[in-house]
Amino acid sequence: MGASGTGETVLAYDEAMAAYDPVMGLEVHVELNTATKMFCGCPTTFGAEPNSQVCPVCLGLPGALPVLNAKGLEGAVRIGLALNCTIASWCRFARKNYFYPDMPKNFQTSQYDEPIAFDGHLDVELDDGTTFRVEIERAHMEEDTGKSSHVGGATGRIHGAEYSLVDYNRAGIPLIEIVTKPLVGAGDRAPEVARAYVSALRDLLRALGVSDVKMEQGSLRCDANVSLRKRVSDDATSSEQKAVPFGIRSETKNVNSLRSIERAVRYEITRQAARLAAGRRVVQETRHWHEDTGVTTAGREKSDAEDYRYFPEPDLVPIAPEAAWVEQLRTTLPEPPAQRRRRLQTEWGFGDLEMRDVVNAGATEAIEATVVAGASPATARKWWMGELARQANTRGLELSALAITPAQVAELQALVDAGTLNDALARQVVEGVLAGEGGPAEVVAARGLELVSDDGPLIDAVEAAIAAHADVADKVRGGKVAAVGALVGAVMKQMRGKADAARVRELLMERLTP
Ligand SMILES: [Zn+2]
Repeated sequence: MGASGTGETVLAYDEAMAAYDPVMGLEVHVELNTATKMFCGCPTTFGAEPNSQVCPVCLGLPGALPVLNAKGLEGAVRIGLALNCTIASWCRFARKNYFYPDMPKNFQTSQYDEPIAFDGHLDVELDDGTTFRVEIERAHMEEDTGKSSHVGGATGRIHGAEYSLVDYNRAGIPLIEIVTKPLVGAGDRAPEVARAYVSALRDLLRALGVSDVKMEQGSLRCDANVSLRKRVSDDATSSEQKAVPFGIRSETKNVNSLRSIERAVRYEITRQAARLAAGRRVVQETRHWHEDTGVTTAGREKSDAEDYRYFPEPDLVPIAPEAAWVEQLRTTLPEPPAQRRRRLQTEWGFGDLEMRDVVNAGATEAIEATVVAGASPATARKWWMGELARQANTRGLELSALAITPAQVAELQALVDAGTLNDALARQVVEGVLAGEGGPAEVVAARGLELVSDDGPLIDAVEAAIAAHADVADKVRGGKVAAVGALVGAVMKQMRGKADAARVRELLMERLTP
């Protein structure tokens, strides 16, 4: 096996789909953005010095007693409500017992048969505008583990490492695990459904304000269970197809981008199909996703009944959320993302395709904030979907990570509207802002990008161009109006781009036509 793993034989996707029907189960772990950990007062700041945010409770020292973080519970209930779940009127934590070096207590405080929220759903919009309902089995509270680093090996994995380090800062950070029911009926759109679900869930969690949902930092992580069963009907939603028992599943762990989720599910479908088609069995196991090679490789074999010796956590009191409190939290829920999207589309006057592109590009929030800051929806869309999308792409960044704020984009557009900048100059201003030279007005001043609005220097340049290109000027005088473009170009060059081309053309035509 190479550094990132080598793929197995796969079947072409179309062939796999002709023979098999995929069934998925998605488990998403989301870290809550509480100021302190789930059962102690340690801070949760990301990126702090290793083992600087620990205490006897989250280190599992003998005699230390946990206390539930009220904000953590509130976040769990709000997530449950937003996912249309029933909220338990009484539930408990459980100990999930296993030994792992990054888990200092040797058990994880989790929930087992009594989750805080269960039986919900999330309607997910697909690329073509249709909706797929994802049924939610449960959302339960638990705590994150610490983080191991394996040093000295080629792969960063434990195998081949010289030694390992462990950082317990993350141990005890509140996690909510959201588990879907088996997703059936997606057919060949299963990979797209998986991506769309995690994307919709991320939007919802962001709107709830309960997590920073940064997949690249691991505050939102997805495990994808995939299995195949024989296809008996062309319609993945038919009752005969749904009656076929599920196949054996694999579980691809910690996939950390939306695009990777789609790719990982697709890869697993083609890998399992090749095994089944060759008369081999699918192994029930966890698998690792390799972003660089686009394959999954075998992790640890997993039986159905892994015995974690769950038992009710004796150090924490049961949770019995009062109905009135739950109802009060319900009033704090944000507008559901799909409804919000429809409302914004109407307000902005975007077509279906335009809006879908905006959503797929993750530009909705940016455009909304730019409009709030004073730009028109059309110009806000033009910037975020055009020049800024290009800049983000070049830098390999998400739009939201670009070093320009919606307010700065609105300011830039105001400068264009006021005639201070043309589009080409505005793009230079964007470069300056992204390079950290300050806001649009500062960049305009520092780089001297302002359009020459005074006609005086323009007229000088216009007359110089007419004199220098007498032949072209004669053509225009003779009625070949299109030839004026060459003169406009000469003037713009002379003005080093800092002129309004429309005004230059006007001044030229005034002089060349009767
Ligand atoms: Zn602690």
